[in-house]
Amino acid sequence: MNQKQHKGPGGRVVIYGGGVGGAQLAKKLSGKASVTLVDPLDYFEVPMAAPRNLVQPDFAERAIMPFAEALPELEHVRARLVELRTEGGLIETPDGQQSLLSGDITALATGSRFASELVRAVEGSGSERKDFYARFYERLSAARRVLLVGGGPIGVEIAGEISETWPEKAITLIEAGPRLLAGTSEKAAAHAAAVLQKRGVTIITGDRLESQAHPPNEIFAPGGTATTTAGRQVSYDLLMWCVGGRPNTDYLQPHFANVLNDKGQVRVTPELRVLGQERLFALGDITDLAENKMAWITGGHVDVAAANIVALLGAGRMKLKSYRPKTGNPMMAVTLGRNGGVAHLPSPIGVVRSAWINRKLKATHMLVPMLRKKFEL
Ligand SMILES: Cc1cc2nc3c(=O)[nH]c(=O)nc-3n(C[C@H](O)[C@H](O)[C@H](O)COP(=O)(O)OP(=O)(O)OC[C@H]3O[C@@H](n4cnc5c(N)ncnc54)[C@H](O)[C@@H]3O)c2cc1C
Repeated sequence: MNQKQHKGPGGRVVIYGGGVGGAQLAKKLSGKASVTLVDPLDYFEVPMAAPRNLVQPDFAERAIMPFAEALPELEHVRARLVELRTEGGLIETPDGQQSLLSGDITALATGSRFASELVRAVEGSGSERKDFYARFYERLSAARRVLLVGGGPIGVEIAGEISETWPEKAITLIEAGPRLLAGTSEKAAAHAAAVLQKRGVTIITGDRLESQAHPPNEIFAPGGTATTTAGRQVSYDLLMWCVGGRPNTDYLQPHFANVLNDKGQVRVTPELRVLGQERLFALGDITDLAENKMAWITGGHVDVAAANIVALLGAGRMKLKSYRPKTGNPMMAVTLGRNGGVAHLPSPIGVVRSAWINRKLKATHMLVPMLRKKFEL
């Protein structure tokens, strides 16, 4: 085993996962500690832009930022954490080399995994991801009947993008729950459903796919007919899985299974430390906090984790900050293409249906400039 040894100002922090939580945490800690960021990807991708990238591949040019540009001051190790041990993290590079990495403080921000790499890549380079979007665009352009599985924000946004770009396509959106957008208010969800239905999208709720011709991870599989639990038969040229969102925490199973709940989420303390661990933090989608798994929520985790890590390294205040979960908070901005969407904003504003406001909030830029600014790009 090769154990890397670096020391910087304030000590060494190893962050696993360079997504919304890990990359922002790394940026906040740079200059205050010696930071090593471990991620099998060589880039940060703004997840919010993925629905747009699928219908406009050149949008990915700015949504994908190589770590070398976004975080040039940090060490990026292109590898996956395969097993967390008490003495450090066992990591594996894309060519299969394993080594053990340790720091004074460790942060876990490995996010969610989905049914396929359609909405979130699990390996590869930034240029491969851009090639994927270009290739998928060709496939999507050619499909006449599109079946989308999952009526959460990702499925709804993709339905919005496709129906706006190609009004002639026959789109079906199927959701197992009783309504679309379970994480936000009924009013916001009803508006999204009404806009999509007006565009001709068929929405099926309370039903789920029972069988289909190809497994979810075959993104480019040919068309077929899917059968639902209720016995519906839906024929499609392209099947797009927009479900998943399970925590990427398998690496904790061998030695830290006790910190996982039954959903595979990491139990955290109010300081965002892993339960029972002094110098191990967890943030973002993998936490067991009862709140929507969203980027704007992860941003709040980053602030608390960064302050506490600095405090523990002795470079800041000693009293640790506590995070208050956003339980039941319906705040969400859901786009329905470039020209609008629906948002549920904090009280007293509530549901915003105005296309103009939704364009300003998110639909024209998909939050890419905001994230680029965070990385000084
Ligand atoms: C398509 C899409 C659209 C979204 N739209 C919105 C939106 O509009 N608004 C909003 O607020 N939220 C949105 N979200 C949710 C938001 O992106 C997530 O809540 C947020 O990214 C969570 O941050 P994270 O750091 O926990 O995980 P992620 O941002 O997913 O980052 C996880 C990182 O960990 C890496 N990783 C995974 N496993 C390992 C491992 N074993 N070792 C090392 N690295 C690993 C991954 O490669 C990835 O880079 C969207 C999500 C998706 C997928």
